[in-house]
Amino acid sequence: MNRNDIYIIHGTDYKEMTIHLLTEAGLAQEIGDRSRHIALKPNLLGTILPDTGATTHTELVCGTIEYLQSHGFRHITIMEGAWVGDSTQRAYKALGYPAISEKYGVPLVDLQKDEGVFCDAKGMKLTVCRKALESDFVINMPVLKGHCQTLITCALKNNKGLIPNAEKRRFHTMGLHKPIAYLSTVVRNDFILVDNICGDLDFEEGGNPVVMNRILGLKDPVLCDAFVCGCFGIPVDDVPYIRLAEQLGTGCADTSKARLILLNESSDTDYTQLPGSRRKTPLPRRVQKLAGYTAPKDACSACYGMLIHALNRLDEAGKLRRGLTPLGIGQGYKNQSGDIGIGSCTSCFACSLKGCPPRTADMVDFLEENWISRT
Ligand code: SF4
Repeated sequence: MNRNDIYIIHGTDYKEMTIHLLTEAGLAQEIGDRSRHIALKPNLLGTILPDTGATTHTELVCGTIEYLQSHGFRHITIMEGAWVGDSTQRAYKALGYPAISEKYGVPLVDLQKDEGVFCDAKGMKLTVCRKALESDFVINMPVLKGHCQTLITCALKNNKGLIPNAEKRRFHTMGLHKPIAYLSTVVRNDFILVDNICGDLDFEEGGNPVVMNRILGLKDPVLCDAFVCGCFGIPVDDVPYIRLAEQLGTGCADTSKARLILLNESSDTDYTQLPGSRRKTPLPRRVQKLAGYTAPKDACSACYGMLIHALNRLDEAGKLRRGLTPLGIGQGYKNQSGDIGIGSCTSCFACSLKGCPPRTADMVDFLEENWISRT
């Protein structure tokens, strides 16, 4: 696997998708020696369930453990430090980790109880949990989601779970961006498995999940977060810690150099079905408002999710208004005529944006030019 590779898999069987992606990426070869100590670092925050768009789905954790154990790796731990104000133990319990630990014989490490070690991060003094530093190979498992202070959060910010609570508080007094970037120079991010199943539109703690039903695999945390900016239609320069981490040598933020490896096509169209639910769940309020500008017919989850993010960008800029023509999107529009549509499926429309799926940033530009400006 190359450092500019981004593996992408779509679907709804998250554990199987995880195993498939790790197999294709050749993770076992990347790790090498079977005696190495491997740490899985999910994003738990507190007691918030994954279908809210806040925390890592446990299927990714289980799939990763099964993959590793089937390849002979025995020294595996799950480590996390919940956010300040909640306890890691409570979070583990609420999200079902004790049962996972017992089933696979994998210990749970509470980094809130771990010892802090002073590190020199390229000139910035930081305190990092000892167990995180002692791991030989760290698999970062963030959720791709929005964040009210840093706009997006994914690989680089998920590393904040590897520092003691007092240091987390200090990060906020330092404005977050600079310490997050410097932290990336001392913690390991050997592989990043991104939960892009239903990350929240704009809040770390969830509440407005946007179902995209994807899992991503990468080696470069900077490339990962730059790619996430693209998914949200946000310029990389609007998230200062990404560019700073790049300048510090952690990785490359140039997504034009990325090699996208699609392991399957986005085809599931059940974007109103929240993961884990057995019934149709109504769209959350904020997503529902944005969905009101669309007229989907069998739209793939990833494509539709990206359109929701594009509409969110336009809404934040105060550009959405009543009376706009509903946007066609989805496979149900193939070979159909219509007014304005998103994606190759609407190529017979009078006005259509090419791409399968198109990029969020292209959606924003296309909609500003061809939709918002209409009188
Ligand atoms: S353009 Fe059509 S087929 Fe392609 S991702 Fe979008 S909805 Fe799916």
